Amino acid sequence: MICVKDLKKSFHTQNGEIQVLNGINQTIKKGEKVVVIGPSGSGKSTFLRCLNLLEQPTSGEVWFEDTLINDPKCNVNALRQKMGMVFQHFNLFPHLTVLENIMLAPVQLKLQSKDEARENAMRLLERIGLSDKADVYPATISGGQKQRIAIVRALAMNPDVMLFDEPTSALDPEMVGEVLEVMKELAQDGMTMVVVTHEMGFAKEVGTRVLFMDGGLVLEEAPPAEFFANPKNQRTKDFLSKVL
Ligand code: ADP
Ligand code: MG
Repeated sequence: MICVKDLKKSFHTQNGEIQVLNGINQTIKKGEKVVVIGPSGSGKSTFLRCLNLLEQPTSGEVWFEDTLINDPKCNVNALRQKMGMVFQHFNLFPHLTVLENIMLAPVQLKLQSKDEARENAMRLLERIGLSDKADVYPATISGGQKQRIAIVRALAMNPDVMLFDEPTSALDPEMVGEVLEVMKELAQDGMTMVVVTHEMGFAKEVGTRVLFMDGGLVLEEAPPAEFFANPKNQRTKDFLSKVL
């Protein structure tokens, strides 16, 4: 579904050029749940953002469903319809109700009629037990509820893959579980997922593969049982000793 070849990304800053991704090679198959871990600043977010062109790769290739997406001819909007993304800070539109937030993109992009989008949104809200919040504004609900709604808002587009960038890091601890639960159900339904997280329990339980990133490279990868029981790279070991 996703194939990344020698992906490099650098940024121009006041202090000159910084190289953030140093040559990443990855193949992510349909149905995989890839969990990306690693220290702050290792390039996890930049990697995820290169997958849906929120960042333009400096060099290398990113393929999605047989399309080279970092080609000037790539239709970025069509690509993003197929890749849902959920960020650390739920960016629901404050001036729209929960229902309107979920309906917005499918209706604006003319993928669904208003009636279809409303029906679809209500079904999604039911699935996460929040149909009673359809007509309220985001300011009136909890952080956990907002993030669950951000997830179903992305699902309203019927994406083929879901990208998550630390979806629980900004939440109060008591709200982390409910968001992880929605992600687990999504995984059980067969969604292809790439998840940057510090939740090692989630990585062990849901991940089909764990990637450890440091210094803009994937230093180690393995299925979670093997990865956590028998890390091989010294930097992986050091990182795990701090977070486990
Ligand atoms: P992580 O998500 O693993 O914490 P990031 O991908 O956010 O890491 O960042 C990796 C490095 O790239 C950091 O040093 C960060 O400061 C730098 N970086 C990220 N985005 C930009 C940008 N738009 N401009 C300049 N530097 C950036
Ligand atoms: Mg990040």
